[in-house]
Amino acid sequence: MVIRKDRCKECGLCAASCPKQVISFENYVNKIGYHPVKVDEAGCIQCGSCYIVCPDGVYQFLGGDE
Ligand code: SF4
Ligand code: SF4
Repeated sequence: MVIRKDRCKECGLCAASCPKQVISFENYVNKIGYHPVKVDEAGCIQCGSCYIVCPDGVYQFLGGDE
């Protein structure tokens, strides 16, 4: 999973959609002034929900071991 943190607008849609509740927010603000998402990838099951709901193209799944 690639997380383009500088695109995140902290809307929370991905966190609400995550079945494992592994999405939280960083303490710092990104280039556009929002606290970007932080994913506990150890608990992520690669379901793709975050990718589907994000309106800002933050998540990328490249397949394989990504
Ligand atoms: S892929 Fe699924 S489990 Fe992983 S962070 Fe996104 S919504 Fe959560
Ligand atoms: S859905 Fe996208 S823009 Fe919204 S909080 Fe999640 S990563 Fe950030």
